[in-house]
Amino acid sequence: MLIKTDPAIIAGYLEDASGYTEGCATQVVIPETEAEIAEYLNAASQRREAITISGGRTGVTAGCVPQNGSILSLERFDQLGNIEKTPDGGSILAQSAVRLDTLKATALAARLLYGPDPTERTGTLGGNVATNASGGQCFKYGTTREHVLGLTMILSTGEKLRLERGQSLCKNNILRFPLDSGRNIECQRPQLPTLKVDKNAAGYYSTPEMDALDLLIGMDGTLGVITEIKLKLLPAPAGIFSLVIFFPTQAAALECAGQIRNSSQGNQPIAGIAPASLEFMDIHSLNLLKPNFSTIPAVGQAALLIEQEHTLESEGQALSHWFDYCTDLNVPENLIWFAQTEKDRERIRAFRHALPEVVNTIVRQRKFRKVGTDMAVPESEFPGMFEVYAQGLNASGLEYLIFGHIGECHLHVNVLPKTQAEFDQAKAMYLNFAQQAVQRGGTVSAEHGIGKIKHDFFQLMVGAHGFQEIARVKRCFDPALILNRNNIFPEHFLGALI
Ligand SMILES: Cc1cc2nc3c(=O)[nH]c(=O)nc-3n(C[C@H](O)[C@H](O)[C@H](O)COP(=O)(O)OP(=O)(O)OC[C@H]3O[C@@H](n4cnc5c(N)ncnc54)[C@H](O)[C@@H]3O)c2cc1C
Repeated sequence: MLIKTDPAIIAGYLEDASGYTEGCATQVVIPETEAEIAEYLNAASQRREAITISGGRTGVTAGCVPQNGSILSLERFDQLGNIEKTPDGGSILAQSAVRLDTLKATALAARLLYGPDPTERTGTLGGNVATNASGGQCFKYGTTREHVLGLTMILSTGEKLRLERGQSLCKNNILRFPLDSGRNIECQRPQLPTLKVDKNAAGYYSTPEMDALDLLIGMDGTLGVITEIKLKLLPAPAGIFSLVIFFPTQAAALECAGQIRNSSQGNQPIAGIAPASLEFMDIHSLNLLKPNFSTIPAVGQAALLIEQEHTLESEGQALSHWFDYCTDLNVPENLIWFAQTEKDRERIRAFRHALPEVVNTIVRQRKFRKVGTDMAVPESEFPGMFEVYAQGLNASGLEYLIFGHIGECHLHVNVLPKTQAEFDQAKAMYLNFAQQAVQRGGTVSAEHGIGKIKHDFFQLMVGAHGFQEIARVKRCFDPALILNRNNIFPEHFLGALI
């Protein structure tokens, strides 16, 4: 096991993509085996040493950034197993530091698909599972959760937990976790308010019929150290093409998104319109991208980014369905980007990925954290929620952009403050947006998690009682309370470390 105490090395582990600047740690511990993790955590529990788990450090909520104690980096857990093929796809075992891009490429080489596609592909699978990450194709394939078949986790007691999907189901509200030590963890599932949205990355998962495995997905490193994950692979589609449709008005883009959502759900089907992903960019997003993408049409006030899968036989037909649909929408061909080859599709993916990167660059230059929302609301509430965003933002005079997963009624509002006063103003507006989302049955975080920077918003959803429930469940797994302190809920709900 490597232990690094050089401040210059530690500094590299004190940042993720959140812009959080209060990171502090005494050392970085880099184990190579599960036994080393177990031994270190057990000893750390005895001496009440805070441990923060570090994956790819691409998180946007400072979950992997410690405020004190030691960093446990999983970087040497980077082995990917062989694919086990099955008639309906396959599965693969991955150590937690395997990067998402590595897994996706390996699956594709075997003509299989790993469904989740968070925009940032250098994140690790351990981080993706800990945050229940999701991406554009969540519209068709769901979040990371739906693709996890099993997990191995080392607890802060040093014990090992191995759990497969279907092995332990919630009974009478009790969750049971068998440990290799022979002991079982039994705890009542967290009693948290029921949401009206499926996509949620805020707090612990909890439903009456839940699989115990699902408690561990999206736990933000608060329950244990994930070392290995068994993931489901699906048959890869024979082909896929991407479209970017630019609209002369934002209203037209929003209306079109609603139609595509309806069609995909089979409510008001439009022939051939059932994409794998449906994303939105407003005019401010397009303006930020124009310096790097000069062919963005000047008349475009908003855009939808779409990926459509097809079989070999249906490719021509799938294409003509989309062009017919665009004709019906009165969108001329010069307002459509179309990508059929992998190279062209990569260009569109780069276009999408460039947006959060440009935003992060601005944030770094200005040295003010962006104020970025991550809320999803039920479909019936989406038009009203969008109106709330538009009115609040336009009246504020602040610099902002809106983009994201319109297919799941999950948009990111990013405000880019230039001064402390603007930051405070944006935070107050965010609180209002979060209140509105919660009142509408939505979540304050559909994909990024709560980490250390969104406690206030999460409290609107679950109240102090919810924090206490989450702390109660954490105590069952991490009795010394050393792991990822201050993630999801303020640490005073746990009491002092020493
Ligand atoms: C440009 C950009 C685009 C992004 N796009 C998306 C997107 O589309 N969708 C999305 O969901 N996210 C997105 N993200 C956020 C980020 O990529 C995800 O949250 C990702 O899951 C983090 O993985 P990581 O390995 O970097 O984790 P880290 O940032 O290192 O950690 C995240 C959390 O997971 C915990 N953790 C990490 N590894 C383990 C482990 N082995 N065991 C237990 N806990 C662990 C950490 O302690 C921390 O709490 C984006 C980020 C950037 C910078």
